[in-house]
Amino acid sequence: MISPVLPTYARAPLHFVEGKGTWLTDETGRRFLDLGSGIAVNALGHAAPELVAALTEQANKLWHLSNLYEIPQQEALAQKLVDETFADTVFFTNSGTEACELAVKMARKYWYEKGKPEKVEILTFAGCFHGRSSAAIAASGAVKMVKGFGPVLPGFVHLPWGDHDALDAAINDNTAAILIEPIQGEGGIRPLPDQCLQGLRRLCDEKGILLILDEVQCGVGRSGKLFAHEYAGVTPDIMMVAKGIGGGFPLGAVLATEEAAAGMVVGTHGSTYGGNPLGCAVGLALMNVVSEPAFLETVRARAGFLRQKLEGLVAAHPDTFESVRGVGLMIGLKTKPAPADVVKAGYDAGVITVPAADNIVRLLPPLNITEEEIAEAIDRLDKAATALESA
Ligand code: PLP
Repeated sequence: MISPVLPTYARAPLHFVEGKGTWLTDETGRRFLDLGSGIAVNALGHAAPELVAALTEQANKLWHLSNLYEIPQQEALAQKLVDETFADTVFFTNSGTEACELAVKMARKYWYEKGKPEKVEILTFAGCFHGRSSAAIAASGAVKMVKGFGPVLPGFVHLPWGDHDALDAAINDNTAAILIEPIQGEGGIRPLPDQCLQGLRRLCDEKGILLILDEVQCGVGRSGKLFAHEYAGVTPDIMMVAKGIGGGFPLGAVLATEEAAAGMVVGTHGSTYGGNPLGCAVGLALMNVVSEPAFLETVRARAGFLRQKLEGLVAAHPDTFESVRGVGLMIGLKTKPAPADVVKAGYDAGVITVPAADNIVRLLPPLNITEEEIAEAIDRLDKAATALESA
């Protein structure tokens, strides 16, 4: 008999009842160190006081307003994002998938308004993940995403990761945009080298193509910069954001230059909940913390500390771990056993991690994890590896 909850997830039998900072507590009172953050969502940990304060203050005033009216909290968060990034304008969504939908629509509408309606093709790369809507699975193109869900939305061209010749060959008069994650998340924590992102920006400028960056997983401080593309010193035309920006409240956004957003006039897009006062109040409180240079510097320092400890862990457990990769607090441990087995051993040792493709176990801790918590997490991962090796 089908479960009341549609069974699209293979859920671990863990019943968490409370979260505080980097810690989760289950119904028996057992405490777990959370290095998953709900897959890169709880950027300031669980029940972060700044976010609880912003949420409750707003909840006592006004929860929801239609986008038929002005929403001051939305304007404030949009202004903050415009001040901190390349963007001139922002549309708020409730998720990364919805941000993908708008990014695709915006790119195609841009060329339509320019009198080039044939420019609809969006180039994407193997291992990418942009969400689960019809457009987002078409963008991925992976068989496991699209099989059985046809007809697949046309207009996406799938390229191998890191193959410059294939990229050059794929560009033609119909190309509208390149869509890429600066650091692939679900694909197994694969950072795009800075020179490749710079090369993509150059290529887009030369050929007249829009560059769309998906920073849903790697954005909002996770890389140690506010947005991961800052390392390369180039900017996109359109950027998708979600996950960390709400710190646990469902919030996403599309950021764009005035030029790229030119086609999105009144009536071309909308959302009932996107940009509601609750989400934007939380998002602004979060951005006010994460955008501080001192905060980001601490993220980079903690990331360095964690990375160093992980190198030691890998050296101590060559039968379990092969290598460590990633940027900032978006880290992948390449495992020898199936990543799911390593994650399960972690549960038994009281530490939460997240599997990804390419035999990777992801570590995506809250950005404000302490050095003591990092040391404790390494201890627990060490126990998990030892248990696996003696099984
Ligand atoms: N883009 C990236 C890079 C993601 O990692 C995800 C989710 O994992 C999405 C888009 C989709 O976001 P959401 O699950 O909020 O719809």
